[in-house]
Amino acid sequence: MKQQLQNIHVVDVHAHPYVPNTQPFTADEFMRKLSLSVIPEMFQKQQEQQLIFPGSNMYMQITLQRLARYFSCRPVLEEVVEIRNERARDFSKYTRALFQDANLRGLVLDFGYPTPQIPKETYDNLSGIASWEVYRIESVMVRLSKETADFFTFAEQYRADLQQALQQRHILGLKTIIAYRSGLEIAPKDERAAADQYPEFRENERASVKALRDYCLHIAMEVCTEANKFMHIHTGVGDGEVVLPKASPSFLLDMLRDKRYRDTKVHLVHGGYPWMEEAAFIVSILPNVYMDISLQTPFAGHGVERIISQVFEMAPFHKVMYGSDAFTIPEMNWLGVHLFKECLERVLMSWIQKDYMNEEVALHIAELVLHQNFENTYREHLYEARQ
Ligand SMILES: [Zn+2]
Repeated sequence: MKQQLQNIHVVDVHAHPYVPNTQPFTADEFMRKLSLSVIPEMFQKQQEQQLIFPGSNMYMQITLQRLARYFSCRPVLEEVVEIRNERARDFSKYTRALFQDANLRGLVLDFGYPTPQIPKETYDNLSGIASWEVYRIESVMVRLSKETADFFTFAEQYRADLQQALQQRHILGLKTIIAYRSGLEIAPKDERAAADQYPEFRENERASVKALRDYCLHIAMEVCTEANKFMHIHTGVGDGEVVLPKASPSFLLDMLRDKRYRDTKVHLVHGGYPWMEEAAFIVSILPNVYMDISLQTPFAGHGVERIISQVFEMAPFHKVMYGSDAFTIPEMNWLGVHLFKECLERVLMSWIQKDYMNEEVALHIAELVLHQNFENTYREHLYEARQ
């Protein structure tokens, strides 16, 4: 089965662009690049001959081990980084070789991170594979709030901006990171409360201003519904800023069940990890809600095997898509695919051994998750789906 899974091409439905590093990485810089932590003190300099780099976790250990195999060197951080630096001198060639090795053919990119934004063309030239975009609403809110002091002008321009964005073919939907600001417990649309909070938002673009953010999310949901495009909602953990107590997907249920949004297509980004069973349940009861397993793959390391098994306790096979949330270096996209495929293989083999399915069905599930669910779900908005 290993070989058959290797042959299946992959679309990564949630990732971010990055640019080449201008200087070779030191060992600790490379480890920092791999981390979800945005706090530099998370990593101290490595002491001589430490077997485990301080602050590193299982996902970093697996990356090191797998890269050593790819480079045919010892799984020693300094050796791996040295060869990496050598090969990444031609960064585009290195990236393309990694993507080819992983059979990665397409990416859905969130250009909202990093800032300042990397142009799509720049990243496409680097990666050499097809890409599509989700358009982040918070960036629009910030930009427009700097231009007008009047809330009603802001609201009008905001809606028009989103509508215009969704007319572009390569933009598959909108994306919100409201889970990083005020959480996922979305209240009904309240224009007056939103207007009251607008001056505070103009002063501090990261302020909670929950009523304003909920209001803007409702507008985004309406615009997606009209355009028949997808609302991508960050769920679950993320970087250090996330409002973790309000980040689980169950908080979204009231909004998702609202009959005004019955036809709205929603994509739960990161599948709500560590509350992936909640996301799996939600996609099992609401016909237009989908999930991906990005971020948990590859950042949960060896946990990816457990996660695949748990997600499919409830989630329909046609509702789950592969993703990585890679955001700094191409090794993340690459490891994501390889780690996911090896974990998926073990889960599928166990289902075959238990006589829950035969190999043909198991391989079909792999095809669905790795690319077909994306291609089918987003079918009417895709072009260049296969290169
Ligand atoms: Zn992301």
